[in-house]
Amino acid sequence: MFKRLVDLNEPEISIAIFEKSAQLGAGMPYSKAGANDEHITNVSGNEIPELVTSVEEWIQTLPQNILERFNIKPDKFNDYKVMPRLLFGMYLTAQFELLQKQAEEKVIPVKIHLNNEVVDIIDRPEDNKVQVKLAEGQVFEFDNVVVCTGHRWPKKSEGKIPGYFDSPYPPAKLEFKVNHAVAVKGSSLTAIDAIRTLARHNGHFKDSDNNKFTFELAEGSEKFKIIMHSRNGMLPAIRFHLEDPHLLKDSILSEEEVEKNKADNGGFLSLDYVFDRNFKEMFKEKRPEFYEIIQNLSMEDFVTVVMNKREHKAAFDLFKAEYLEAEESIEKEESVYWKEMLAVLSFAMNYPAKYFSAEDMLRLQKTLMPLISIVIAFVPQSSVVEMMALHEAGILEITAVGDDSEEEPQENGGAIYRFTDESGTKQEQYYETFVDCVGQPHLSYRDLPYKSLVDMKTVAQAKIKFRREEKARKALETNDKVEAGNDGNYYLNVPGIAINDNFQVMNSLDAVNERIYMMAVPYIGGYNPDYSGLDFCEAASERIVKSLLPN
Ligand SMILES: Cc1cc2nc3c(=O)[nH]c(=O)nc-3n(C[C@H](O)[C@H](O)[C@H](O)COP(=O)(O)OP(=O)(O)OC[C@H]3O[C@@H](n4cnc5c(N)ncnc54)[C@H](O)[C@@H]3O)c2cc1C
Repeated sequence: MFKRLVDLNEPEISIAIFEKSAQLGAGMPYSKAGANDEHITNVSGNEIPELVTSVEEWIQTLPQNILERFNIKPDKFNDYKVMPRLLFGMYLTAQFELLQKQAEEKVIPVKIHLNNEVVDIIDRPEDNKVQVKLAEGQVFEFDNVVVCTGHRWPKKSEGKIPGYFDSPYPPAKLEFKVNHAVAVKGSSLTAIDAIRTLARHNGHFKDSDNNKFTFELAEGSEKFKIIMHSRNGMLPAIRFHLEDPHLLKDSILSEEEVEKNKADNGGFLSLDYVFDRNFKEMFKEKRPEFYEIIQNLSMEDFVTVVMNKREHKAAFDLFKAEYLEAEESIEKEESVYWKEMLAVLSFAMNYPAKYFSAEDMLRLQKTLMPLISIVIAFVPQSSVVEMMALHEAGILEITAVGDDSEEEPQENGGAIYRFTDESGTKQEQYYETFVDCVGQPHLSYRDLPYKSLVDMKTVAQAKIKFRREEKARKALETNDKVEAGNDGNYYLNVPGIAINDNFQVMNSLDAVNERIYMMAVPYIGGYNPDYSGLDFCEAASERIVKSLLPN
């Protein structure tokens, strides 16, 4: 967002940035709040949005102690490599400083407020202003506010129940020795973060002479184990070579196309249309033989075919096979095209998703999103190697827990995990240590930490209209997120607040607020269902800046 405003060089703007930590740029994932030295990005320099200098250039400027700390050899580093997240955070901080210099040269007034937490945002429509209130009590007034507060991990039981963690962040809290099995809820990138930290404190990895990477338990941790729990017992897919490192960002549907499809489809964007346009059609020219296979498959059929293939293989066998496939893809610089296209689809669907009917949104949530979340994790190779070493040492396992698993924190510590296993048998297991690693929760609009926005009804619950009454009535019987609106229509409540295409917040009458923009992903998960990364920040900030200063 800052880069876009600086690039714009608009004489009338001045910028104020409020950051609750002491560091600009790194944010949560790339600072100590979200990473240790062992945690790495899942994107490389060539896949991230352009900033001021490239990662490769910046690496050449680093002092020896940083290079040694992160085991980086500048002559061997290139923009195709993933990197330690803390190092990436340093890069982002350095880029922020360069942008501040650019702003200075362009005489753009910029005021940075470090160590200042925003605790409330108060809209003042009567004088067309917005107020920002800090924890210390000061209040500032602006024409516009863009909320870029990123991730938030609310605590429910952590801190009150020993051995119970609502998230693995900051990861320093998992730097302890245990001599028992640890339950990890989740099996994707967040779980991998927890596993990499716990493993380092209960043993060590060894790169032996015959190129075999192994793990050995430390003394006192002989009974240490990690049991991952996921709905379907599947592991995420692995990073491969991308044909287009920016994932065909230009392929998203134009506004005219969305409007035309809505007009043809009772006022709703059709999920089948998006699946055809942003997925199936992508193969026509590039992979005609694959297109032949999928051209007549519905979205549901396609997901069933792919999921069946995964389900019939033991999770770690498939993980190993996908690792080899990914290695070959990187070596030959050849994409695993259907996976790349699924990432393209996920990105392309993000903005127009709010125009789906509730029926399509439910199909998306139930069918396509579980597959997308597996495929676009893009697990970095070094994480895979560590997980395989842990599995081979008998320390890492995965259990399928179905859709109705639940954990019950225990007053004296840990949690009981209840679930139905693959054979349909109810299971109950006590764990002294439990780490919830399901990833960034989609937060409800009531969780918004800026109470005035909720109390003054500046923001509203995100909801999506049903197209067919009979379907809505049926859904109403079993789904507590379905409700009848005052206007006679039925709605599906989706997580977070309502926003328009420019990320401006909307009230319950669908009136757009011209002053306040929301791009913090935990609060807009319903209308933006993509698993957002840096690419989202780039795309969202572009829309925001165009709306802020249309000329
Ligand atoms: C653990 C983790 C790893 C990830 N790794 C990758 C990856 O490898 N590649 C990728 O593309 N994406 C990754 N992501 C996705 C991530 O969403 C984006 O990369 C990016 O960090 C989002 O940027 P942001 O500015 O929206 O949020 P953040 O990076 O979270 O930054 C938000 C900033 O706002 C500050 N803040 C929060 N609340 C307040 C307040 N009330 N007042 C003042 N300041 C406040 C925070 O201190 C922070 O500095 C990862 C996410 C997580 C959680």
